[in-house]
Amino acid sequence: MDFNLANITPEERQELERNVFMTTLEQIKAWARSNSLWPLTFGLACCAIEMMGTGASHYDLDRFGVIFRTSPRQSDVMIVAGTVTKKMAPLLRRLYDQMPEPKWVIAMGSCATAGGPYVKSYAVVKGVDQIVPVDVYIPGCPPNPAALIYGINKLQEKIRYEAKTGKQVTNR
Ligand code: SF4
Repeated sequence: MDFNLANITPEERQELERNVFMTTLEQIKAWARSNSLWPLTFGLACCAIEMMGTGASHYDLDRFGVIFRTSPRQSDVMIVAGTVTKKMAPLLRRLYDQMPEPKWVIAMGSCATAGGPYVKSYAVVKGVDQIVPVDVYIPGCPPNPAALIYGINKLQEKIRYEAKTGKQVTNR
């Protein structure tokens, strides 16, 4: 029997919409990835304390599928939490390069975003986006756990949106 969507009745269309879930493989992968982000911890200064607090039991990042890893090989998101010095910059880049694709970066706090209070220091990089591409910027000195959770949620939305639309949302 031939089945043509153009010839179905409104009732049949309603029934189909209720019972058939249409998606693509890319969207399923993005859904799975966005709900199992494994960050490489990159705590560099005071912001890292808030990041650790967010991962602990009270805020419980595990409920979003966010499990911190200590190896770049097992990580798909880098949370840069703190002041990036020029001495640290090449090491940060090397760890980023060791992470498998697809991968994302969150710049947590005003130091990682733009140098923060050390913006006039000769030793500090004025934003980690000078070294690696950043997907989400979280303002604050330091951002509190709710802000970090919000930033992670934004990254999850971005991953799903890109898979759904085929468009890349970029700050790069
Ligand atoms: S943004 Fe503020 S709290 Fe975060 S690392 Fe810089 S100085 Fe510390």
